[in-house]
Amino acid sequence: MLGRTHNMIAFAGLLTANVYYPQTNLGLATIMTALVANTAGGLLPDLDQATNRLWGMLPFGRSVGKIFNELFLSHRGLTHSLLGIFLVDKIVYWLLPIIFNGTFINFQIVSISLMIGYISHLCADGVTEEGLPLLYPLKYKFGLPPTKSWRIKTGEWFESLVVTPGVIAYIVLTIITDWKAFTGVF
Ligand SMILES: [Zn+2]
Repeated sequence: MLGRTHNMIAFAGLLTANVYYPQTNLGLATIMTALVANTAGGLLPDLDQATNRLWGMLPFGRSVGKIFNELFLSHRGLTHSLLGIFLVDKIVYWLLPIIFNGTFINFQIVSISLMIGYISHLCADGVTEEGLPLLYPLKYKFGLPPTKSWRIKTGEWFESLVVTPGVIAYIVLTIITDWKAFTGVF
């Protein structure tokens, strides 16, 4: 899937989580940080691609991205696995209190938002032709449906004509039908 599709799916995941576990009085700082974390989480698994937009935002990002690319050799390795989820989760819990001030930011909300983005990325990639090496370092790639040719091809018509409008419709409908779940968030 393309970066923008991942961003939308990550956001849809975040909204869904709030419908099931409505949050109250989070405060603007936590909400804004959670939204950024959710977007970053949705792009993080593709850091093994030098073209990832996250690299473009960093100084020397493109060159560092290329080195990263060489290290991981093929796209969709460690970052697209259960081990990757575990490691990122641990790193995020360790890193957040170092970067942010705990008085204004609810770390738990921010880290959950990031992990929702991260896991939504893997779910979305799981229905694409390439599949997911969930049990990395084992090389076997999982995917749904199991027949490869039935899966989505990244960046092709199905993604832009069906997936993207479908996710946008889902986001709008969720906000309209479950608006009560969002009223207390601020
Ligand atoms: Zn990916």
